[in-house]
Amino acid sequence: MNLVVVSNRVSRGKPNEPMTGGLAAALLPVVEKTGAIWVGSSGRVRDGNSKEPFAEVEALGAGALAMLDLPAAHYGGYYEGFANSALWPALHSRADLIRATHEDYASYREVNAFMARALLRFRKADSAFWIQDYHFLALGAELRDLGISQPIGFFLHTPWPARAVISGVPHHRALIEAMLAYDLIGFQTEEDCENFLSYVKNDLDLAVRDGVVISSSGRTRAAVFPIGIDPERFAQQATKAMTHPDVTRLRRSLNGEKLAIGVDRLDYSKGLGNRIKAFDRMWTIQPGLKRSVSLLQIATPSRGAIEAYGHLQSEIAKLVSDVNGAHGEVDWTPIRYLNKGFGQGVLAGFYRTAQVGVVTPLKDGMNLVAKEYVAAQNPADPGVLVLSKFAGAANELDAALLVNPHDIDGMARTIASAIAMPLAERRTRWEAMMAKLNSGTIQQWFADFIEALQDTHSVGDTALPEPRTMWPRRTADFAARYH
Ligand code: UDP
Repeated sequence: MNLVVVSNRVSRGKPNEPMTGGLAAALLPVVEKTGAIWVGSSGRVRDGNSKEPFAEVEALGAGALAMLDLPAAHYGGYYEGFANSALWPALHSRADLIRATHEDYASYREVNAFMARALLRFRKADSAFWIQDYHFLALGAELRDLGISQPIGFFLHTPWPARAVISGVPHHRALIEAMLAYDLIGFQTEEDCENFLSYVKNDLDLAVRDGVVISSSGRTRAAVFPIGIDPERFAQQATKAMTHPDVTRLRRSLNGEKLAIGVDRLDYSKGLGNRIKAFDRMWTIQPGLKRSVSLLQIATPSRGAIEAYGHLQSEIAKLVSDVNGAHGEVDWTPIRYLNKGFGQGVLAGFYRTAQVGVVTPLKDGMNLVAKEYVAAQNPADPGVLVLSKFAGAANELDAALLVNPHDIDGMARTIASAIAMPLAERRTRWEAMMAKLNSGTIQQWFADFIEALQDTHSVGDTALPEPRTMWPRRTADFAARYH
């Protein structure tokens, strides 16, 4: 089988560069090991004839990356417009933030159609396509229009909201009908899958049997595949990172003080404001924790060209400065706030240094940072994860201290109890969470999805091999084959 994976951005995965999101972090090891080809935007745009997509192809381990220049005329409407100002807020249940014009929708569809044309170059008789995330809801339908009959699967990395919320997206009906061109649609949680099927049943009036939607496009199976990480690799990275100069400097600066850490893209779904307020509240109700615990908040800039993100940046910066002004001392800063990204090799060491990991999104598809924090801990003296019950990760990591990210007082008290937790309880909780991470790795996620895609699609003589035989797979020079 020739697997073609498609996502908005592809990551070359340079060791010292920050990942651009959970998707990149998840896919890189998969492509390297299995010999898949991963197609996505190069991050550049190109004027002119969008009928002839230009892609640069390079080898990545056993697989390859194809980086595509997207059409300049449609990029803004597609990316900042429809994908990130209509779909992203809706998918995270923030219908109040939906902003999109009909031109944005037209550009979104244009870029989906453009990507479909670009993929023709990588098609083989035994290809299977696996499309990632909300940027390409309609790509399957565009591929079918071009005559592609091979298996096409789709995985949504974000949540899927209630019917009333998704109905706030302009052209929601056409988009969701287009999604029914996929053979298989994967979600992070049961709730996401149920929400989707509820829309299909009630708004599209279609029959659904055992998770399979029956429509004029054929059959589409909806199922749950919670994404994992590579916990072993992360643990190794964390041990190694403890001697990294940035990690050494962080540890020296603490002088016996305990550390809580937050690592997030600067995004309104991450609940940063309430988290800062919870720390403020904690230092107010337990002044004894001043000087004995501080917060390192890494807030990586993201989607800065979108108005809602610009507002968020100023709002959070002001909150941090108010809290530092209120609780700080000449020789103590309560919150260390950094607007930049770090490579995972350094992040892993930061996670291991912190006694508490605070992951408190208002809504999150999975949240890989929560899983990475757990995997990076020292088994003999693990830290405590404080996790929002609205992160997809909470379904598996129920041994974390689960919090309601809207309840600032409750979060303040839970963070204080995390700091005080005795070693025996920390170890019990950590072992329970590690067992979950080890049974749902990124490798397993990949194999499970591909297996389900094979089962779902009736493939005739282009039958796909057993999925386990693809993991890991032979080495092949894909770059040479596709030039
Ligand atoms: N990340 C990183 N450097 C940073 C911040 C984040 O490499 O400075 C990575 C992090 O390790 C994780 C991913 O980006 O793998 C974020 O994924 P998550 O699911 O937590 O959130 P998303 O950004 O996809 O919403």
